[in-house]
Amino acid sequence: MKNMNAFEKEDRFSTGVYSRQELQLVSGSGTKVYDADGNEYLDLTTGIGVAAVGHANEAVAEAIKDQAEELMTCSPAYFYNKVRAELLEKLAEITPEGLNQSFLCNSGTEAIEASLKFARHHTGKKEIIATMRGFHGRTLGSLSATWKRKYSQPFKPLVPGFSHVPYGDLDKLDEEISEETAAVLLEPIQGEGGIHTPPEGYLSGVREICDDNGALLVLDEVQTGFGRTGEMFAGDHWGIKPDVMALAKAMGGGAPIGASVVREDMEFSPGLHGSTFGGNPLTASAALAAINYIQEENLVELARERGKGFKEGLEEIAKEHGKIVREVRGLGLMLALQLRKKAGPYLDALLDRGVLALPAGSSVLRFLPPLEISTDEIDQTLNTLNEVFKEV
Ligand code: PLP
Repeated sequence: MKNMNAFEKEDRFSTGVYSRQELQLVSGSGTKVYDADGNEYLDLTTGIGVAAVGHANEAVAEAIKDQAEELMTCSPAYFYNKVRAELLEKLAEITPEGLNQSFLCNSGTEAIEASLKFARHHTGKKEIIATMRGFHGRTLGSLSATWKRKYSQPFKPLVPGFSHVPYGDLDKLDEEISEETAAVLLEPIQGEGGIHTPPEGYLSGVREICDDNGALLVLDEVQTGFGRTGEMFAGDHWGIKPDVMALAKAMGGGAPIGASVVREDMEFSPGLHGSTFGGNPLTASAALAAINYIQEENLVELARERGKGFKEGLEEIAKEHGKIVREVRGLGLMLALQLRKKAGPYLDALLDRGVLALPAGSSVLRFLPPLEISTDEIDQTLNTLNEVFKEV
């Protein structure tokens, strides 16, 4: 056991629920990560959309260090805390008007669980309509909203009251919604399902259908939030005001934190929901630093601009390699190539050439780079993709 390396130890002592690439990351800086031999990789995975402000972001690292030396834990159930208070105020400032109460938690799936509980409690109704291809997390409530049967089937029975309609189809939603519907839950741009942007008029149509039926609109902005798509939140592209918004991933600049942000008039009483770690000063300080950095460095505008150039480059590649690439999808720096083949060999070939990308389903290459990715690094990615599509 003593002589096992990190690969062997992780394989031996973890549960086996993950299948990883043969790469051990030991450090990161900005858009780059480094392996144990000091090899450099351009990271377009960012821990699945977490490191939007880059790896080892100085402002975030300093905030964590200072806060760790001051106070790491302060239960929101018992005491007040200045850092948490400032983060709550910041979330009210950056989320759509009228959404200004947040429940802080530690992950995306918890943000969804809280959002579902708040929706059921506020409306007094039980049913939740989610969308096909949607992904909302792995705990039982979120899993019940998640579409992929591969993820949910082994854990049945799921939470009752969930149904799914095709994403993008307003007629089907109109047929499914009823007086019993507490909420419609969806990602404004579907991430894990393959990077699907909404058809024109879809999100405003969903908003209208919810209003007509007394149901809440819950937007899952866990992957799309904090500038990723070229707006602070993806719903902002279409001026959508949800009743509840779930956040996580990029929120903490790498630290594990999430939030369910709800409308001002929604009222909840003490004890209704809670979390030991939720809103602890350590991760709250990281989130505050990350959000301030996004605002001060104009990363939202940067993501829009860089994303446009990146997407144009991907379109060129799609044209040149039409036999391999079916389509380019996405917005801002949430981009994907839908392939006609399995993504795995191409991901491996990219890794061999120092570029890390993600899958989204079996035949999609997904790119979620740090928002400060440079135009040279975008060119590097495009050139490497070109090379890989020629050779693999
Ligand atoms: N919602 C969306 C849209 C996600 O993409 C994810 C994770 O990929 C989640 C929820 C779950 O987040 P977590 O893995 O932090 O629980």
